[in-house]
Amino acid sequence: MKNANLITTLVCLFFGVTKLSAQDNLAITRSGHVPAGDLYKIFYVPFAVPEGIAKISVKQTYSGQAQRKNVLNLGIYGPQGYQLGNPAGFRGWSGGGKTEFFISAREASTSYIPGKIDAGTWNIIMYASTITAEGIDWKLEITLTPGPDGVPFQMTPAAQTVNNKPGWYRGDLHMHTYHSDGKRTQQELVNEALATGLDFIVSTEHNTNSANLSWGGYPTRNLLVLNGEEVTTTDFGHWNAIGINPQTYIDWRYSPQDSVIGDYIHRVHDDNGLAIVNHPFYANKFIFDVGPFDGIEVWNGPWDKLDEQAVKWWDQLLRQGKIKLAIAASDTHTMNPRENRLGIPQTIVYANSLSRQDVMAGLKAGKAYLARDHKISLSLVAACGDATAGIGEKLVAPPAKSIRVQFSLQGAAEAVITLHSDKGVLRTGKATAASGQFGWDVPAGSARYLRVEARTPQGDMLALTNPVWLQ
Ligand SMILES: [Zn+2]
Ligand SMILES: [Zn+2]
Repeated sequence: MKNANLITTLVCLFFGVTKLSAQDNLAITRSGHVPAGDLYKIFYVPFAVPEGIAKISVKQTYSGQAQRKNVLNLGIYGPQGYQLGNPAGFRGWSGGGKTEFFISAREASTSYIPGKIDAGTWNIIMYASTITAEGIDWKLEITLTPGPDGVPFQMTPAAQTVNNKPGWYRGDLHMHTYHSDGKRTQQELVNEALATGLDFIVSTEHNTNSANLSWGGYPTRNLLVLNGEEVTTTDFGHWNAIGINPQTYIDWRYSPQDSVIGDYIHRVHDDNGLAIVNHPFYANKFIFDVGPFDGIEVWNGPWDKLDEQAVKWWDQLLRQGKIKLAIAASDTHTMNPRENRLGIPQTIVYANSLSRQDVMAGLKAGKAYLARDHKISLSLVAACGDATAGIGEKLVAPPAKSIRVQFSLQGAAEAVITLHSDKGVLRTGKATAASGQFGWDVPAGSARYLRVEARTPQGDMLALTNPVWLQ
């Protein structure tokens, strides 16, 4: 296309939607500058798409990109709009993970949503999450390819049921693929999950549901895949929406001051899902009110000081009567053995079947314990007279009676066991590979709940349970 034509076309594109006459690609260029003071400030770059476009391709370049001195996040909304809480216009988000993508009716780059390219005003969304004092000079090269739509994309979501057997199921609740900043394909993740002996995984890409649309296209065999999204705010923390419908997209563009987080947690609950605070003490510290959340990821990847802080926070909340589910997850991004690996740690949940409905019901009921890896398993039962209760269950224990607590741990060479209540640590013990059985008598009426931690002699967590509740 000649320059004069290009300028005319751009003018037309900007002021109205034109019908394409030629089969040439349309090239649109936008550029600008983000001053250093605009760190985390979201902005939108509009461009017009005429009728008859089959494919949109976007290439983003910016200063300081190669050395990652600057990071300029990237996403796109269609003509249905980009207002907060309107998911209809959402067509993908790759954050700082990609600088190029395409969308067509039939297919799209990972992180993006395939589907018809409607004519109208589209918007590129960007914000800087790392910025130097010089700010960022950016450029967008948008290519519109005319042509017929072709065969439309068909969603192939994961199967909702794997089996009908009740039991304890091992899951990893937080992970990434190429659909966000992970470095593996969906197929590679499925292979890894099967090899690791996981029963279920939750797909949690940053701010996109693109992967959730296609899990059914992979041979998952006896692996349950649940849909999720890591709702990743600019700098107010991350949380996971887990167990949502494949088409559900949860918005992330708000701050604690906007006081709208409850609306988005409701949206997760509408799908029968759970809202879990992620890695609350990481660099992007979680600063929303924990009140409306269902749970906390108290253990993210290999055990460290930040997990210690998270467990301490969870324990304080429990003592205050703020009941939150504790979960453990890998937050794995790659297959690299030196980084967070799938299934380390993991959450083991009691479910009436290996299905979306029952696994979510088990998690909601708090029938879950957390373990360093697939080798560790445990059981915790509290009894009073003829009544018994396991993890997440309620035991009716009249104040004058005694509660018999039975705990067993398998898979650890050596462990220090502690029995916790809202009053603090009630009992301690030492487990070995040969002997991991414990029986404790606790006076009823002395505690509102009981939970157990198992740690290495060095203090690293091996396993912890959600509480058994006493009434
Ligand atoms: Zn995160
Ligand atoms: Zn993550």
